Amino acid sequence: MTWNFASINENLHAAKHYGYDVDTNVAKNYRHFKDLRDATVERLNGIYERNWGKEGIDLVHGRATFVDGRVIDVTLEDGSKARYTAPHILIAVGGRPAVPDVKGAEHGITSDGFFEIEELPPKIAVVGAGYIAVELAGVMGAVGVETHMFIRGQEFLRKFDPMIQKTMTERYESTGIHIHKQHSGFKEVQLLRDGKGKDKLLKLISHDGSEMEVNELLWAVGRLPEIEDLNLPTTGIQATESGHIVVDDYQNTSAKGVYALGDVTGRAELTPVAIAAGRLLSNRLFGPSEHSDDKLSYENIPSVVFSHPEVGTIGLTEPEARERYGDENIKIYHTRFTAMYYSVFPAEEKAKNPTEFKLVCAGPEEKVVGLHILGLGVGEMLQGFGVAMKMGATKADFDSCVAIHPTSAEELVTLR
Ligand SMILES: Cc1cc2nc3c(=O)[nH]c(=O)nc-3n(C[C@H](O)[C@H](O)[C@H](O)COP(=O)(O)OP(=O)(O)OC[C@H]3O[C@@H](n4cnc5c(N)ncnc54)[C@H](O)[C@@H]3O)c2cc1C
Repeated sequence: MTWNFASINENLHAAKHYGYDVDTNVAKNYRHFKDLRDATVERLNGIYERNWGKEGIDLVHGRATFVDGRVIDVTLEDGSKARYTAPHILIAVGGRPAVPDVKGAEHGITSDGFFEIEELPPKIAVVGAGYIAVELAGVMGAVGVETHMFIRGQEFLRKFDPMIQKTMTERYESTGIHIHKQHSGFKEVQLLRDGKGKDKLLKLISHDGSEMEVNELLWAVGRLPEIEDLNLPTTGIQATESGHIVVDDYQNTSAKGVYALGDVTGRAELTPVAIAAGRLLSNRLFGPSEHSDDKLSYENIPSVVFSHPEVGTIGLTEPEARERYGDENIKIYHTRFTAMYYSVFPAEEKAKNPTEFKLVCAGPEEKVVGLHILGLGVGEMLQGFGVAMKMGATKADFDSCVAIHPTSAEELVTLR
């Protein structure tokens, strides 16, 4: 919903190029949008809760901690405690945003605080280079907030294919987002004025001595598993050094009858991954015998970055594929073009809005082992190509599908 809010501003800009007499500075009421969005989320939460009630599931609101490997104490919202035990216990406590050890860091916000913003800040600093930093900076940039990203390297989205890193970093810069590359990091954050939106003022002091004043500071420097309250040492459940709970392919922890899934396990941290792992685990534990071996495959999970424009990715990046299969067994298909939506834009604006696709193919049969796309609508585009890749599609399979003209997606089945 927040991405849509930002995209509407981009569409208003496009409308002008299409001949609509739209003021480029249309007033927006972010508070109105926030209230609608929050009410929508609350409504969805209510629907889930009521459905659980219908299924006979008791929802206990509280904070859980293990007393021993089989017993859980829950501190309820009124402060009282309740004790539970069960033959099967699932840990799905997720994670929380990390805040760096910087003097005054608490004056900034994290992604949680981002969704609490009621009034847009005129100027924001975003620290981080992962997808959350890129998504939230993209929202701010698209609605006209002066946005400064601070990254350690030369490009962001470092875990993505190099094509995505390069083109998206360039695209953000060309649309006016200030990217401070190879940044030395902040040593202090000072709260100059407390307030909301334009009334909040922070001074950021970098290790290299440079200073900047901003109205908001967003830390997007990674996420940590939320294990502190669980009292894991009493349970014998193993965790990695980073605190992620160790599970096998079937979501079993090292304690019998205790399972873990989702972000707390640190693998493919995405909502549908947690949901799919949960479904398959419940099938395995409580379903008919044909499900007794059910487990989630973590291979070829499609994911989208809701940046501006969106990024879609599935499978191996080009460097990963070269490493796994050897250079001589890899063939790359690549295209970069201007989507039809931008065809009426002036030339200099067309150049700022690339669409770019890459297929990474392996072996003589040219099996598609990686697909990386950026541009308008690629989020919706990816799901179907994900099915093809799960089925083991080759380049010839892609080519055998007749193109849908005139779309951007057709370029993926006509690559030469
Ligand atoms: C800014 C942002 C954007 C994202 N965008 C996307 C996206 O576009 N698509 C996507 O698929 N994924 C996205 N993700 C990732 C997605 O939110 C997570 O992968 C997903 O929520 C993980 O589900 P989970 O059940 O493991 O944990 P969570 O959804 O984090 O749920 C864990 C729950 O456990 C509760 N809890 C923690 N400790 C305890 C305790 N001791 N006792 C009781 N309860 C406890 C927490 O309060 C929380 O309610 C995004 C994440 C962030 C931060």
